[in-house]
Amino acid sequence: MEFGSVKFFKCVILVALALMIVIPTVGCVVLKVQNHRLEEEITSMQARLDLLGEQKEQEAALLPYQAMYPDMIGKPADPEDRIENPNTVYLTFDDGPTAKTEKILDILAQYDVKATFFVIGNTDEVSLRLMKRIVDEGHAIGVHTYSHEYIDIYKTPESYLEDFHSQYALIERVTGVKPDIFRFAGGSVNAYNARLYEQLIAEMTRRGFTYYDWNVASGDAARGITANEIIYNVISGVDEREGKSHKIVLMHDTRETTAEALPTIISELKERNYDFEALTNKVVPANFVYPKGF
Ligand SMILES: [Zn+2]
Repeated sequence: MEFGSVKFFKCVILVALALMIVIPTVGCVVLKVQNHRLEEEITSMQARLDLLGEQKEQEAALLPYQAMYPDMIGKPADPEDRIENPNTVYLTFDDGPTAKTEKILDILAQYDVKATFFVIGNTDEVSLRLMKRIVDEGHAIGVHTYSHEYIDIYKTPESYLEDFHSQYALIERVTGVKPDIFRFAGGSVNAYNARLYEQLIAEMTRRGFTYYDWNVASGDAARGITANEIIYNVISGVDEREGKSHKIVLMHDTRETTAEALPTIISELKERNYDFEALTNKVVPANFVYPKGF
């Protein structure tokens, strides 16, 4: 092909035309790929922004008392591990430890029975030693309240958490156990917490704690009650629930009469083939049903 010939120019024009088509096409492809990458980046950034926004919203939604004592949390039981055995009796003792706890622990050891103690803030030497003994002998320990002053505890969610934390910290310091079960002072619904109980239950559940009311009352805290009456209350209360569900018995380790009644209660229930266990948060709680309009 001769330089400057018609054929030569034809060739040049063809090559130029080809380049005019190929270059923009390649450019388009490159831009399309880049565009796709940028779109992906935008999508992932948008997702991250949404997540941050949600976290911020959640933080903003956290009520002031929910931020109190962030380390005070329990580990709730897996719902699949829940225990509900109608042949098991859970003896629970509130308001100790006191000097009376010693005799109760001796009787429980003698009969090889495990129980549960919902303890309060008694910090004298005897009470602290007995708090340790409760745990050392394989019984369960849970928070009841530090002050047991209903009016103070149930003023606000903050005052409830302050009181709970004092007792939680005391139990951990004395026994090394971080309790994950508790019993509200006066039970979960009472005349003092009517305005607050839903908030308190929601907050303590959110923190992973499990609370236990009772379905058999021994009545042992009543003034002037005799050992025989306590025995009757417990045995008839258990009989009433025969075959229905596990029995959670409310007692107190604050009175001599409770200790007097205990050996007969254990023997009678053993004769009826009941076994005794300490509560764990796997046990399905006996919780009060809230009266309408309460
Ligand atoms: Zn109490």
